[in-house]
Amino acid sequence: VPPAIHSTAVILASGDEILTGQLLDTNTRWIAEQLVSRGIMPIAHAASPDDLPSLVEMIRRACSAAPLVILTGGLGPTEGDLTRQAIAQVLNEPLIEDAKAAESIRTYFEKRGRATSERQLRQAQRPARATCLPNTNGTAPGLHAQVQNPKSEISNLKSPCDFFALPGPPGELRPMFEREVLPRLRPDPSRTVITRLLHIIGLPEADCVDRLRGLTSRGRAETDALVGITASGGVLTLRIRYSGPGPRAATEQAINTAESAAREALGDHLLPLSAHQHDTGQEALARHLLTTLAESNPPATLATVESCTGGMLGELLTAIPGSSAAYCGGFITYANAMKESLGVDPELTKVHGAVSAEVAKAMARAGIERTGARYSLAITGIAGPDGGTAAKPVGTVHIALTGAGEPATSRRFLFTGDREDVRRRATTTALTMLHFHQKGHAAGTPRLLWETT
Ligand code: ATP
Repeated sequence: VPPAIHSTAVILASGDEILTGQLLDTNTRWIAEQLVSRGIMPIAHAASPDDLPSLVEMIRRACSAAPLVILTGGLGPTEGDLTRQAIAQVLNEPLIEDAKAAESIRTYFEKRGRATSERQLRQAQRPARATCLPNTNGTAPGLHAQVQNPKSEISNLKSPCDFFALPGPPGELRPMFEREVLPRLRPDPSRTVITRLLHIIGLPEADCVDRLRGLTSRGRAETDALVGITASGGVLTLRIRYSGPGPRAATEQAINTAESAAREALGDHLLPLSAHQHDTGQEALARHLLTTLAESNPPATLATVESCTGGMLGELLTAIPGSSAAYCGGFITYANAMKESLGVDPELTKVHGAVSAEVAKAMARAGIERTGARYSLAITGIAGPDGGTAAKPVGTVHIALTGAGEPATSRRFLFTGDREDVRRRATTTALTMLHFHQKGHAAGTPRLLWETT
């Protein structure tokens, strides 16, 4: 029997935590994105309680519905972790110990100066015909098994279904998926699917759609273009997806044409295409800025001084590997006294208030003086829900940018949303200001989303 083509897939999650809503099933979402971007269409998602008969039933059904099934969770050492037993029942095989997996579990604990318990070793068990998938970030190995499906009426499923069980913690699941599952995927070679993500900053969604009208309506229908926009954290993400029969080169060309049209319509609001296509919009922006700073001649560095965002900007930057090449660090100056100890003149706070252009600029200058960075960004504002006044309502944020030897500029924004939204949007906007400055736009231009005078 030839190996199945993975045209479709079912994604499963195991655990009471997910069924009861205690835990958000982000694994399914991540896996679905991974599959879709490779042309494999998920046809169903499901979750099972920590109960053996339910789990067995769910796996059986999934394996007769699609040639590829990916399940997450339930591989650990506790009583509620039943994935191994369930797949053994589906395959009608006993569990045996995998010598290599047992060895790597022992090594894992030895390295940490701990003895390996019997319970931990249970994680090395697998059905006789299944394969263990090494876990580089934890103890529980994953599993790969081929589930025969003789009763299926769908011709493709006369081939065995590829079943993968991966650990629940995202930090273990993702590397295992990339190392062990990706190379074993067999998308339909007669179809081409290409997804390209482009990130747009500083523009309202409606404005963006207007500018892109040409792109979305210029009748590229014959190539099945799907252009969608989503907004998150102050960044718009344009998803161009082509799916259909036809050679890859032609599809790629169609996507390139669409991207050039978008670039023409959006100018510097559109970030360059990134190799990191799974970044969120905010991550893409942070990565782009860190790269342009590090690659400028001479290399430039950035410091941050944050009040209402409490380190969110620093966190966004330092989450990107290699950020130390361009980000030198920052200060969280939440109380006025902290702003003053950094170098903000108490007179400014007294006269203009902590949330003001003057204080934002003084914070940014202090950032340069204290770190010697090339650029400094400062954020001070009212994230809410309390603390707003008629003159400075909740959502009012001043963001200042200065460069060594350059005058500081501060811009005022009125962000909408709750406390989290205001803080996130302020973070994005600070980086957006630096982006346009680096692109050579005059101070204070272009006018940005949420900017007020
Ligand atoms: P472990 O080896 O840690 O026991 P496991 O494979 O047994 O891993 P579970 O015990 O089911 O996985 O879940 C462990 C943790 O992984 C959960 O507490 C949760 O933090 C995370 N997790 C599990 N399933 C999901 C999911 N579908 N989406 C997001 N996170 C998940």
